[in-house]
Amino acid sequence: MTLPAGTPTGLFIDGKWGEGSGGSFAVLNPSTGDEIATVPIAGLDDLDRALAAAAAAQPEWAAAPPRERSEVLHKTFELMIARREELAYLMSLEMGKSLTDARGEVTYAAEFFRWFGEEAVRIDGALRTAPSGANRILTFRKAVGVALLVTPWNFPAAMATRKIGPALAAGCSVVLKPAGETPLTSLLLAQLLDEAGAPAGTVNVLTTDNSGELVGAALADSRVRKLSFTGSTGVGRTLLKQAADRIVNTTMELGGNDPFIVLDDADLDAAVEGAMLAKMRNGGQACTAANRFLVQEGVAAAFGAKLAEKMAALRVGAGTDEQTQLGPMVSERAVDGIADKVDRSVAAGARAVVGGERLDGKGFFYPATVLTDVPRDSAVAVEEVFGPVAPIITVRDEDDALAIANASEMGLTGYIYTGSLARGLRVSERLEVGMIGLNRGLVSDPAAPFGGVKQSGIGREGGYEGIEAYLETTYVATNW
Ligand code: NAD
Repeated sequence: MTLPAGTPTGLFIDGKWGEGSGGSFAVLNPSTGDEIATVPIAGLDDLDRALAAAAAAQPEWAAAPPRERSEVLHKTFELMIARREELAYLMSLEMGKSLTDARGEVTYAAEFFRWFGEEAVRIDGALRTAPSGANRILTFRKAVGVALLVTPWNFPAAMATRKIGPALAAGCSVVLKPAGETPLTSLLLAQLLDEAGAPAGTVNVLTTDNSGELVGAALADSRVRKLSFTGSTGVGRTLLKQAADRIVNTTMELGGNDPFIVLDDADLDAAVEGAMLAKMRNGGQACTAANRFLVQEGVAAAFGAKLAEKMAALRVGAGTDEQTQLGPMVSERAVDGIADKVDRSVAAGARAVVGGERLDGKGFFYPATVLTDVPRDSAVAVEEVFGPVAPIITVRDEDDALAIANASEMGLTGYIYTGSLARGLRVSERLEVGMIGLNRGLVSDPAAPFGGVKQSGIGREGGYEGIEAYLETTYVATNW
């Protein structure tokens, strides 16, 4: 399994590829643990060059006809679709996800460029009359400026396009800092944006395995006007504090502890199918992954048995193997974290009916796992597991389910399965999350507002809302 010829492995600054001043670091294939490439460590002088390029390009880009910005995004959408197999393979190789998941992600990721290409030409203002009648209130929208984009490794393409798409549509220029585990997909995306005509300096990509230093320096730089971060709540908290010094406009997409509620009138086969999607997409390494299954007591045993059967049947293997349904975790550290949470929960009384023991051999594998009799305060119930582990907690009724679900400080996604739409909507209204799958195991959609409440984040990406993060409103009080 080698890197496809022509995959870019340099820094992308001001429309040119180059080395970094900080040396280089290795990118591993999690399916084997072997090195697949080295990429530069961007130094502070590289950051300076990237910010200078972004700041120089931004005013002209913002002043370009919206149709022109739209066309660049449309063209990149088309290039991504045309090169879907190459992108999917690269993502499987550096991140470990199955090819099925990777192909799905390429489509999902490309759709952000199509959607925001459509939004670029619909940025509007407003005209109102002051209640006093004394004047008119005229508003128009302006791009925020240079945007720093920091993305995680779990969706290497989609987390980048979900930010680059609206930023470019709004007239911002960007400096993207991808996760150190998965820099290659971002570099290939930069190549496609360049090919599609994004002017030099509008898109810059800096790779590093020392994110703290680079991102900290960027946030302290007066050229940076926007931070959009997707990642863990802990790092998000640190970056919010750093952003506070210069009052940098921030969007935060953070961690989850997503409840999957199954009520006793649910279609159990549909619930299990939804559970497999909500739990196992990306091997459970998704912020939208169902983290805890809250199942009403009358159906808990039947649901658990059906889910266990499906989980046990999954084919584990290298991400790039066409047969694979469950690939490796992203790193050895990720496997250690999952194993630790499962072990602590089993010690506290949970029972592993499928999996539960880490797998030997090369690569970073953890098996599909179903835990029953899970204590409500055990590690897998209260912490984000980020792996293929399905803990089942039995609940008395919907009030009990809601009490457990809402006790969390996280509030990203929730899932509800019920035969009654009215009951589902009633529970939806009371669930403290930003997104809900009602009789559906998948919520992600470029046309929908994605984001969380509580410590799961601030702001929304995608939908009509997504471009708002990159726009500011100017108001003119005027008489005529
Ligand atoms: P992470 O927070 O470790 O890393 C995210 C990004 O921040 C990476 O680019 C990383 O290199 C960088 N980073 C790490 N430490 C930093 C520091 N001190 N200063 C600046 N940057 C730093 O998260 P991860 O492990 O890559 O991703 C998994 C997490 O992301 C999970 O918690 C998951 O729920 C969350 N996530 C959220 C969403 C969402 O939309 N809400 C989507 C995907 C993932």
